[in-house]
Amino acid sequence: MRTIPHWISGSETTGASTRYGAVWNPATGEQQAQVTLAEPADVDAAVAAAAKAFEQWRDVSLIRRARVMFALRDLIERHLDELSELIADEHGKVVSDAKGEVIRGLEVVEYACGIPTLLKGEYSEQVSTDVDAYSFRQPLGVVAGITPFNFPAMVPMWMHPIAIAAGNTFILKPSERDPSASNFFARLYAEAGLPDGVFNVVHGDKVAVDAILDHPDIAAVSFVGSTPIARYVHQRASAAGKRVQALGGAKNHAVVLPDADLDFAANHITAAGYGSAGQRCMAISAVVAVGDAGDALVARLKEKAEEVKVGPGRDQASEMGPVVTPEARDRIKGYVDRGAQAGATLVVDGRGLAVDGHENGFFVGPTLFDRVTADMDIYTDEIFGPVLVVLRAETFDEAIAIVNANQYGNGTAIFTASGQAAKKFQRHVQVGMIGVNVPIPVPMAFYSFGGWKDSLFGDTHVHGPEGIRFYTRAKAITSRWPDTQYQEHHRDHMHFPTAT
Ligand code: NAD
Repeated sequence: MRTIPHWISGSETTGASTRYGAVWNPATGEQQAQVTLAEPADVDAAVAAAAKAFEQWRDVSLIRRARVMFALRDLIERHLDELSELIADEHGKVVSDAKGEVIRGLEVVEYACGIPTLLKGEYSEQVSTDVDAYSFRQPLGVVAGITPFNFPAMVPMWMHPIAIAAGNTFILKPSERDPSASNFFARLYAEAGLPDGVFNVVHGDKVAVDAILDHPDIAAVSFVGSTPIARYVHQRASAAGKRVQALGGAKNHAVVLPDADLDFAANHITAAGYGSAGQRCMAISAVVAVGDAGDALVARLKEKAEEVKVGPGRDQASEMGPVVTPEARDRIKGYVDRGAQAGATLVVDGRGLAVDGHENGFFVGPTLFDRVTADMDIYTDEIFGPVLVVLRAETFDEAIAIVNANQYGNGTAIFTASGQAAKKFQRHVQVGMIGVNVPIPVPMAFYSFGGWKDSLFGDTHVHGPEGIRFYTRAKAITSRWPDTQYQEHHRDHMHFPTAT
């Protein structure tokens, strides 16, 4: 069995680890590798390497740090196919979708290439007589990222390019379900000229996560994953005195108004609901059909869901692959059972889907429920699978109230032909990222990504300007260079200094 090691201080190691996690091929249902699960001693080793590397890396000039990012950018582009296939094999998503995530992550590397501009400070001359004031931002030190299985390249790339370009050293604890992309990145960084110890990968489970959260030499933690773990990470790392941003789960609503182009809406909702088998934090998982839109929309969604081509991620004809693990498949099917029992109308049932030649793969077909109510657990819970639920609302105001009553606030979209309606939606909806006739409104790298409510714990969103702020802290300097040769030197007043 192939073993996936950690990457610490520029080389592979299994360190003190004696436990392993299974890495599946979700399309075949076979275990393809085992990943090393870290003990606290492995986290200690990574932190020691990162702390040592920080002493030099913090002083590397901005332009040289930017050049590492430019080199990384080229390497990622050159290895795009290889990286995408690696992701498809461990996650299960189709290769074209894996490419999409790498390219969206690449945008963050491109943003980080601008670090000399992004870290420009401020300068005010003569804030008091012969006194100047200026400010700039410095890196925090050793920072860590803990990431989910669903975007094994993109989500870590929301973090490490910015943290590293800003002068920090980084420890990545990726998902143990699809760990190989992180080691791939470690090798690319080394090839790009990043010094040993600046980027480290520690694989593991709760043992590794807890060691990171408690470690006194880690200054900040970025987490992306499910809401219960995000809440836990935020509380525990905050209690240990760290800066924390913890992005959680989601239930993203698409509100469809009767004036919308329903073919357009159904096409986009189908792609956003079933793409990556619904395992995206920005997947549309709930549709709120307003007034007359309902029946016509559900008819179209049914037709589109039945057309989705499900198959192995490596097959170019596949539009949707399997889900990540046997446990995920069983959990998702359990939700479909309970939704049907609770009285929702099961319009398309993906439970029985079998893919020829891949009978042991973790496949669940696209599933569509209509007439779902807000008390059903297929609505209240994040299913994280290819299950789309449709709720009916009489009015637009009722639809907005449904979105706002939900515990999550990651993303949402409105489909309408009315600019007025769209404006009202974007103003009143309590969600961090909003699409207007755009189903998956993931902000570009030069904006910041983050939700509201139980979709984010902490104050800062990831990447973009908020990412720069998260990974740096400010210094404000007030400076005077008295010319004692010409100026009379006398004792200052004792009162609190004010501008003169
Ligand atoms: P997860 O919460 O199970 O795991 C995320 C990370 O936490 C992994 O690295 C995992 O090893 C670790 N972890 C798991 N259980 C832990 C525990 N008990 N204690 C400490 N650490 C633990 O999430 P997942 O299943 O890998 O990913 C899917 C979830 O991530 C979904 O809820 C999805 O919405 C969410 N997600 C959110 C965003 C966002 O931007 N808000 C983006 C991607 C994914």
